[in-house]
Amino acid sequence: MFDLAVIGGGPAGLTAAIYGQRYGMRTVVLAGVVGGLVADNPLIENYPGFRSITGADLSLAMQDHATSLGAEIKAENVVEVKKKGKTFTIKTESGTEVEARTLVLAHGLKRRKLGARGEDKFIGKGISYCATCDGPFFKGKPVAVVGGGNSAALAALVLGEFASHVYVIYRREKFFRMQPYYLRKIEKVDKIEPLFKEEVAEFLGKEKIEKVKLEGGRVLDVSGVFIEIGFEPELPFKTDLKLTRDEKGFLKVDAGMRTSVPGVFAAGDISTGSDYFWQVATAVGEGAIAARSAYEHLLKE
Ligand SMILES: Cc1cc2nc3c(=O)[nH]c(=O)nc-3n(C[C@H](O)[C@H](O)[C@H](O)COP(=O)(O)OP(=O)(O)OC[C@H]3O[C@@H](n4cnc5c(N)ncnc54)[C@H](O)[C@@H]3O)c2cc1C
Repeated sequence: MFDLAVIGGGPAGLTAAIYGQRYGMRTVVLAGVVGGLVADNPLIENYPGFRSITGADLSLAMQDHATSLGAEIKAENVVEVKKKGKTFTIKTESGTEVEARTLVLAHGLKRRKLGARGEDKFIGKGISYCATCDGPFFKGKPVAVVGGGNSAALAALVLGEFASHVYVIYRREKFFRMQPYYLRKIEKVDKIEPLFKEEVAEFLGKEKIEKVKLEGGRVLDVSGVFIEIGFEPELPFKTDLKLTRDEKGFLKVDAGMRTSVPGVFAAGDISTGSDYFWQVATAVGEGAIAARSAYEHLLKE
């Protein structure tokens, strides 16, 4: 039996594990991708203490910190969470069951799908939602990014390292939602070509994606398409917990990161704790608070 189980191994979850262990709680982290979104980020330049650090280095340092204190990390997705009496039972995709007295939910957000014709058919066959993971497969080939925010900018920059040409398909007339820092960077890369006021009508190809047809009629020859249109909250496992969510679907928490279920805390992007300011710095703060609240909860029991 663990004192604390953390679902999610991003900055929020790993920080909850660090604080959990330091409070003397036996802690386990269950995470599909250990490191979370940060692990995919080529460079982070606003996390205090590091003028510039790769996401891989930052997430490895957080993992190392958590495990050095004795936290266990299981790289598995959680599929179900149940509560019986005062015990939470957490089931993973391999069928492993873990029992814990408190729970921190730090599973982050889900990448949004575009919903265009052909999208589902070509997922994994040229359509990807992670440029850092799949970009190197497109060395010397033309690709497209769909979206106009920071995720799209980062994807275009990563792909600019490998692809022969990078179209950025965006429905608005300029990049309103992109941080000036990213905007300046993509403007300097000649092979990144923004296509404003365009939307995807359909993805076309035989076995793999070959073309993107735009609403305006233009057809682009591409070998890969990266969909980067943001994130949405979801509960990625079955549960009988009566968790209160806000109108957008985020887990409602109080100042102590307590959810509506006693013994369950939420931290990071999935919680309402940062007023939707999704950053590493806010996620780690919430993770620390959640672990402290879990500790206080156990003290009262
Ligand atoms: C393109 C981009 C650039 C960014 N740049 C910056 C930046 O420069 N600086 C900055 O501060 N922030 C940046 N961010 C934001 C930052 O990455 C997030 O705010 C932060 O990672 C949130 O941490 P988190 O722990 O809440 O969630 P995440 O990092 O999303 O981690 C979620 C964790 O939950 C796991 N998980 C999900 N479902 C399950 C499940 N069913 N079972 C088990 N585990 C599960 C995931 O595998 C992962 O380990 C950027 C984000 C994006 C998308």
